[in-house]
Amino acid sequence: MFNIIEKLSNVFSLGQAADPTRVSDKLKESILSNLDDGEELIHIIRNSRAFYNAKAPRDKNTYYNSRCILTNRRFLIIRNLDYFKLFREIQLPKITDHKIEKSKSEVIITLISETGEDVIEFSKNMVSFAEEFSGILSQTLKVAMDKYSINKEGKIEKKCDNCGKFIAQETKFCSDCGHKFY
Ligand SMILES: [Zn+2]
Repeated sequence: MFNIIEKLSNVFSLGQAADPTRVSDKLKESILSNLDDGEELIHIIRNSRAFYNAKAPRDKNTYYNSRCILTNRRFLIIRNLDYFKLFREIQLPKITDHKIEKSKSEVIITLISETGEDVIEFSKNMVSFAEEFSGILSQTLKVAMDKYSINKEGKIEKKCDNCGKFIAQETKFCSDCGHKFY
């Protein structure tokens, strides 16, 4: 009896393997260990293809077989493996605009920054998941734009809740008003 249930549940999980947001515990653990201090994992989704249409021709790239990771500060494109292998990192405050194009057969998300644009494609069987992801992305971007900024060294800085000054991510006290971060 146990065997039958086990077999059935295997069939069931095979059926769900098409869910592009599913990740193994091993991959999730690997992703979490690659996030910065205080960085929160928001969403993970497998995509069909991603292009970086960089203004500088030598930086142009295409990533096949990849996954997108959205955190509260970054958009990461990793290789579709069971461990974290980074293809491309986009800091959310660097995104100046974004577009979401939907049709019956695909969803395309375009992230525009000063250095070029990232085009992320989702195929037909991922449309509903990609739509959900694009909604989460829009909200996350909105929050990140207000909360974070990029300094001259290209690092992400956080906004002081009290006085609005942007300070280094690891800072515990605001250098302007002395506000304490927890
Ligand atoms: Zn302050």
